[in-house]
Amino acid sequence: MRLPSSELEALKAAGLGRTMRLLEERQGSQVVADGKVLQSFASNDYLGFSQEPKIAQAMAEGLQIHGVGSAASRLVSGTFGPHKLLEEKIAASKQAEAALVFSSGYATALGCIPAIVGKGDYVIIDKLAHACLIDACRLSGATLRVYPHQHLDRLESLLSFVRGKFPTARILVVTESVFSMDGDVCKLLETVELVERFDAMLWLDEAHGLGVFGERGMGLAEQENLQARIAFQMGTLSKSAGLSGGYVAASQAWIDLFVHKARSFVYSTAPPPALAHAACVAWDCMQSDMGRERRQMLRERIQMMAQVADVFSPIIPLVLGRNEAALEASKLLEDAGFWVPAIRFPTVPHGKARLRISLSAVHPLPEIERLIPYLLGLR
Ligand SMILES: *Cc1c(COP(=O)(O)O)cnc(C)c1O
Repeated sequence: MRLPSSELEALKAAGLGRTMRLLEERQGSQVVADGKVLQSFASNDYLGFSQEPKIAQAMAEGLQIHGVGSAASRLVSGTFGPHKLLEEKIAASKQAEAALVFSSGYATALGCIPAIVGKGDYVIIDKLAHACLIDACRLSGATLRVYPHQHLDRLESLLSFVRGKFPTARILVVTESVFSMDGDVCKLLETVELVERFDAMLWLDEAHGLGVFGERGMGLAEQENLQARIAFQMGTLSKSAGLSGGYVAASQAWIDLFVHKARSFVYSTAPPPALAHAACVAWDCMQSDMGRERRQMLRERIQMMAQVADVFSPIIPLVLGRNEAALEASKLLEDAGFWVPAIRFPTVPHGKARLRISLSAVHPLPEIERLIPYLLGLR
């Protein structure tokens, strides 16, 4: 039989070796790894909430009240107050009837999409959608169609063809508000209009939109006032909210169906109630003046990066092509005291290896100023 070591060697030889670095310390956006002090541009902590004392305090309070674990699936051993409260908050702020929380964004997609579509149905997905969405679509057993990234004319022709041929099939269109490795923003209004025209449903992943867009930080759908027109608004609590967990907001009937059918909900232990308790506080913070201030700080930092590239979000890719080029650039930046990860296949297509800079409201301005000339030199 093939040994894992032979696969590992092949990956390394192709410039695709990966390691997890031990973080010895973390303070704000600064980390200590392998004894080196680095300014990290690698996290998705857009608002700096992962170390926010108010949220940490809520977690501690949640532990005091509820203990450390939830002990079983919510269907088996009961649901806790904080899970329910969090879902009510999410539903209300997404203009949806109901919401359901999961242990991660990945688990949300993997559980729900196969509960929406199955054999005989269709999913139509943007080519650059996140791995968890692709996996979920494949798992569903529905027929999968892919449209080139942001090519809505192709989405339209696929919708027209499928709806014409299968008048009663469920058709789910799957896309993201902010694409995770390219940082560009979905043409949401046009997408919503197409989905409505062909009597399909939209699954919108706001993983990188939540906290970043919208007056109350609820994402691109809030900003464009389209929340009520989107069947499924998914997101994660692991990025702007600073914690971990995933959610979907939808109609009551769909949420009820997920409670019956989403296997990552039914057959997985509920996230710790203390986490849900902290997430309630993080959610309030995101919507409050504090969230607004952080968004303002983030915008200021995003604007600084306009010198380097076209920027639409806190995610700025610098596409370099070859794996080795991306690794070398990452190493060069590390020597200068920055942690900017090299992103390679299969996270991005072959030949599109890149640096991915992600900004946070808590990045010190002088550190961004110091980074920019290096990026300009690499471009
Ligand atoms: C990170 C991410 C997820 C997964 O969320 P987790 O909570 O980390 O599992 C889903 N979709 C997109 C677009 C993401 O970037």
